[in-house]
Amino acid sequence: NPRDIKVPGRDAKGIYFAVDFLGQVTKALLDSDFAKVPYELAKGKNVLVIGGGDTGNDCVGTSIRLGAKSVIQLEMMPKPPVERTPSNPWPQWPRVLKTDYGQEEAIAVFGHDPRVYQTTVTEFIKDKNGNVCQAKLTKLKSEKDAKTGRMMMVPVEGTEEVIPVDVVLIAAGFLGSEKYVTDAFKVAINGRTNVDTKPDQYQTSVDKVFTAGDMHRGQSLVVWAIREGREAAKAVDESLMGYSYL
Ligand SMILES: Cc1cc2nc3c(=O)[nH]c(=O)nc-3n(C[C@H](O)[C@H](O)[C@H](O)COP(=O)(O)OP(=O)(O)OC[C@H]3O[C@@H](n4cnc5c(N)ncnc54)[C@H](O)[C@@H]3O)c2cc1C
Repeated sequence: NPRDIKVPGRDAKGIYFAVDFLGQVTKALLDSDFAKVPYELAKGKNVLVIGGGDTGNDCVGTSIRLGAKSVIQLEMMPKPPVERTPSNPWPQWPRVLKTDYGQEEAIAVFGHDPRVYQTTVTEFIKDKNGNVCQAKLTKLKSEKDAKTGRMMMVPVEGTEEVIPVDVVLIAAGFLGSEKYVTDAFKVAINGRTNVDTKPDQYQTSVDKVFTAGDMHRGQSLVVWAIREGREAAKAVDESLMGYSYL
């Protein structure tokens, strides 16, 4: 269930969820045995990718390979340090700048990193045919929310800028399972809109219905999906047999 960017002008033509765009490209390639490259999706166009994660990186790389004229990738958070900070020592996961293949290809083709940090979109502007033609961007700063005490990224007044865009790809994360699936199975979801289970368990709120992977833990990694799939299979075996040798 992709996280949407709900700002004025969102209904403009030319704004796609990342996986719809990536899926369309992959399908066109596979259906034609790699004979038909769907260049028309990005060739000669100014592409704006919203989201600085793996999915956004795939959108950057794919747009460049389709011949995009320019590619910008927006990231809400500040640019990570190039090296570990003293508060992030080994063996903790290194919270440092990573440059993935899409960004490397952008640097090779355009001569600069496509990522723009601490920035978001506040409006999409349409042309007379309803196609997106510009995006209004604003800088963000970290500020403590008075009510919750949590740090939030908030707009910085006077930093608005308008850029030309022909294609917008929304890669702003995922919000758990698609609702029609959880509704169909009547399984409870948690505050993060993932299918709810007890900690480290796979049995849902509905007897004999199990869950695993992204719809259980939220957007994650292939290695976690594999592990959760195996653990869920073991839980199913245990529930059927009363024990499991898996
Ligand atoms: C663009 C993108 C790039 C990513 N890059 C990386 C990466 O580089 N490295 C990495 O480790 N992870 C990456 N991930 C994350 C990784 O793909 C997921 O964490 C992983 O695929 C989750 O596996 P899963 O089995 O839980 O769900 P999925 O792989 O999403 O599988 C769910 C399956 O259920 C099917 N389905 C949905 N609804 C129904 C239905 N009603 N009936 C039947 N079938 C249904 C879907 O078609 C799909 O095949 C990326 C994700 C995306 C979207």
